Amino acid sequence: MRIIDIHAHIYEKVAGITQGQPMSSTRLGRVTIGNQEVQFLPPSFEKSQSTAETLIAYMDWCGIEKALLMPNPYYGYHNSYFIKAVKTYPDRLRGVALVDILKGEQAARELSVIYDEGLLFGFKIEVNSTFQCAPQKRMTDSDLAPVWDCCNQYHQPVFIHLFKGCDIEDLAVLVKRYRNIRFVICHMGADACFYQTAKTENFETVLSITRDNSNVFIDTSTVPVYYQEEYPFPTSIAIIEKAYKIVGPEKMMWASDYPGMLNHATMKQLINLVLNGCAKIPPNHKELIMGKNAQHLFFDN
Ligand SMILES: [Zn+2]
Repeated sequence: MRIIDIHAHIYEKVAGITQGQPMSSTRLGRVTIGNQEVQFLPPSFEKSQSTAETLIAYMDWCGIEKALLMPNPYYGYHNSYFIKAVKTYPDRLRGVALVDILKGEQAARELSVIYDEGLLFGFKIEVNSTFQCAPQKRMTDSDLAPVWDCCNQYHQPVFIHLFKGCDIEDLAVLVKRYRNIRFVICHMGADACFYQTAKTENFETVLSITRDNSNVFIDTSTVPVYYQEEYPFPTSIAIIEKAYKIVGPEKMMWASDYPGMLNHATMKQLINLVLNGCAKIPPNHKELIMGKNAQHLFFDN
């Protein structure tokens, strides 16, 4: 079966921001957050970096044909490393672009240069990190509109990691306003829908937005983290099967959220979460979720 991973992270060095503090790679999988050092990756990531070469080796090892490189201000700004990776592995990797949306019109100009160049595509918002320095910001604020307009004009997809209930309200507005943008909701709705406990109403709202708008999709990754559960991830399976029942197989795409998810499972276990675990999804629909939808949306052009 063709497997495509639509959410994998690479970086030569963690250089991001979280909890208002800078993050920086040290060694043996650890990073500093301000003055504190934390175990961020398994210790086998000796330099606390996630290289394109290691990602490709994992993909070869586990039968993953292609992957989308996903940025996040949490890890830092790594467009140039993504460009290097997609040039080295043009048949395996595509890279999603990152600019600082808070810069408004200037960010839109930076993005249009990137899209004209044609090496990276799309855009990522991880609400918590993106608005780290402006926590009151909303995705629908008018000074950010030039970035949305740019993505819409260039028909670029936007990947969104939702954190709060109001992010879901904003999503509902944006998906109607920007019909040329394909919206991919990361991690099944992420923190806005689960964190240790289910926020069932929020999850159901996200699923109905996905079902009711032809330009909205959802990735299956990272749910085990929100429930702090071990393989074989029974709660996560139930959540993915519930989504399948409501949005259907054309709207869902498998993702690993590599390498952070290696703290919780092996890459094969992350594949098997959907491939073997979700017994209520028939094999022909699993083919769509595991790779065919992503091939069609991100690679057939
Ligand atoms: Zn991620």
